[in-house]
Amino acid sequence: MRKPHPDPDDTRLPEQHCPNCNELLTGSASFFDPHSRPKEGDANICVYCAAVLVFNADLTSHPATDAELAEFRADEGSWQELRTTQDAIRRAIAHRRRRHAWFSTAN
Ligand SMILES: [Zn+2]
Repeated sequence: MRKPHPDPDDTRLPEQHCPNCNELLTGSASFFDPHSRPKEGDANICVYCAAVLVFNADLTSHPATDAELAEFRADEGSWQELRTTQDAIRRAIAHRRRRHAWFSTAN
């Protein structure tokens, strides 16, 4: 499983703030095929909040509509890929939170 991190195979995207969490998004990478490139209508999971977004023609993204989610769900392979990617990102988010959850002890 590839981790979401900068990589020579990453695709640079027009800078955009995630429509869900407002983090700055500047690139994307496929978990399943490092050489694939995003195109209009592809699902795009925000690496910061795991929201399901969909690429526009100019490779900015919008939040997936109910109709788009239904379309992804109808294709079992795509839906599985989407859920696996989302789960991996959620685990990475939880891991980042754990790493920064410091606590103090008395000496
Ligand atoms: Zn987000």
